[in-house]
Amino acid sequence: MSTSWIVRNGTLLDPATGVQERGDLFIADGHSVDSAPQRAREIDASGLTVMPGLIDVHVHFREPGHEGTETIATGSHAAARGGFTTVVTMPNTRPSVDTPEQVRFQLERAAAAGAVELLPSACITRERRGGELADLAGLHRAGAAAFTDEGSTVADDALMQRAMERSAELGVPIMDHALDPILAGRGVLHDGEAAQRLGLPGIPAEAEDKIVARDIELAASTGCAMHIQHVTSGTSARLIADAAARGLPVSGEATPHHLALSDADITTDDGNFKMNPPLRSPADREALIQGILDDSLSVLATDHAPHLESLKAKGILKAPFGVVGLETAIGVTYQVLVVERGMNVLDWLRRWTAGPAALLGRPCPSLAPGSRADIVLADLQSEWVVNPSEFLSLSLNTPFAGRHCRGQAVLTLKSGRITWAGVDMASGL
Ligand SMILES: [Zn+2]
Repeated sequence: MSTSWIVRNGTLLDPATGVQERGDLFIADGHSVDSAPQRAREIDASGLTVMPGLIDVHVHFREPGHEGTETIATGSHAAARGGFTTVVTMPNTRPSVDTPEQVRFQLERAAAAGAVELLPSACITRERRGGELADLAGLHRAGAAAFTDEGSTVADDALMQRAMERSAELGVPIMDHALDPILAGRGVLHDGEAAQRLGLPGIPAEAEDKIVARDIELAASTGCAMHIQHVTSGTSARLIADAAARGLPVSGEATPHHLALSDADITTDDGNFKMNPPLRSPADREALIQGILDDSLSVLATDHAPHLESLKAKGILKAPFGVVGLETAIGVTYQVLVVERGMNVLDWLRRWTAGPAALLGRPCPSLAPGSRADIVLADLQSEWVVNPSEFLSLSLNTPFAGRHCRGQAVLTLKSGRITWAGVDMASGL
């Protein structure tokens, strides 16, 4: 029997209904209910914002294969601490998630950890090699929520078309790491000012634009839902906006780091500023912010990519690509979008809930009675400073150490069960 709760006196923020008002939230049997339940425990939410739990459609947990950088359990707890109740894991583990057995393994480990609902994505091609399609129907039956060869694009246009035809039949979206491998070459930073200054090889924005354009045309011809992962270029953002305006089933995501940083912020040879695709120009960053503000980019996603500190310390040329993001996602995006750019707070929340849910074909998370009690209480008033040593993630590779943010999850509930409680909350419960 799960605990019943009365969450008193918070600011309720519901992206599904548009509710934004002071009030109480009642929870019984793992769901929101319309009146105070019997024998409920009380949570004082004065000064806090009560929202549905966030969905992150792009996380890397490194199990199986690199459990020293993140496991499904540690990643799940980092997600809960960040205010997430649902995550979509990427399939580029070792071995990769390209069989029904691997999909089931992900689900079983996540259930054992019990901190978050994990929706595994699975590979488009066997071993993500881009040569032969994986058993998409079998992967779907096992529980794959999306298909992607994340880490690489499927460069063979005809193969991608076949994948999208099958995916459309199954009703499963394709997510693409849209980057042409030939044009990207051995680049490590955006082909721009910082790469020149540091004497490092560049990745041109055209590498992304070319594949995004192809993917949009394939979405048009196959009817398959196509989601462009980690959009970084202003041209790509405009292509996606135009596709959405044409009524095509195309969506795009922006990450906190691409919204908060550009290559102008890379002042030293620091591996924590290396990710794929790279931080682009200040103008590209501005185009991404505009895309999130006007909803042509409807999804915020972290691309949480844990790596060993020893490898990240090798400098930009040799370090692996990627940064962690789950535990800084609310703080960085609330600061950049709401505090600095005046974004409507409900719209900000929609990019973390309604947008991802639509992509996954699920109902919009809500506080309304009957909804699953996946809830986050956030302090959106206090400033805090990112301190990686406090992360629950096994990896600390963030470009945001020491950064001042506003917005932080202080309590997370998954189906009415506590999955994260900050110090102040835990002492009151
Ligand atoms: Zn990627």
